[in-house]
Amino acid sequence: MRYSLYFIFLVLSSCSGRQEEKVAGPEKARHTIAILPFTGTDKNLILEIKSGLEKRLHAAVLLLEEKPVPVAAFYKPRQRYVADYLLVFLKQCNTGRSGKILGVTCKDISTTKKPYFNWGIMGLGYCPGEACVISSFRPVRKIRNREQFIKRMIVLALHELGHTYSLPHCPNDSCIMKDAEGKMNLDNGETYCNKCNAFLKQSGILRRQ
Ligand SMILES: [Zn+2]
Ligand SMILES: [Zn+2]
Repeated sequence: MRYSLYFIFLVLSSCSGRQEEKVAGPEKARHTIAILPFTGTDKNLILEIKSGLEKRLHAAVLLLEEKPVPVAAFYKPRQRYVADYLLVFLKQCNTGRSGKILGVTCKDISTTKKPYFNWGIMGLGYCPGEACVISSFRPVRKIRNREQFIKRMIVLALHELGHTYSLPHCPNDSCIMKDAEGKMNLDNGETYCNKCNAFLKQSGILRRQ
């Protein structure tokens, strides 16, 4: 009786504030990635990103309940949300419960990268770290079709997650880890180059293909 009460307490205390899907499957995932959709983001896009990550990474991908983009991150003069602030927010939401947390928003996001103040970006991630964020605001521009848009967003998620796994920018033009440098480079390649690939495989993060 004492043990069952203790068990009930454990279950109750571990499900406050977020909804997660149960992770199943024969192969125990090495770690978990939680996706936090910010309010207003296309729900189907979130599901496509989830399945794209599951196919590529050796991780269980969980969907969290959506949350509004924190008002404090808004930079009114340029109508953008400061991504550095969103990373702090995402880290607070996760508190180490999942290995990584990926925020997805449709709002324009920015960072300050000397000499550029409030520079519009597609994504940002700690390198290494727990949190990263991606925005569909720029990748949705000038798309041929939805398939291209989804592909861009998955590549972007893999790029920012790559940073959280310690990968820096890569000089290889067709590598996912290439720095965008203000351009749209999400159509250049859908894979990590051999070097980045080897690093992630060695760390047990990439699925063997
Ligand atoms: Zn980057
Ligand atoms: Zn590379």
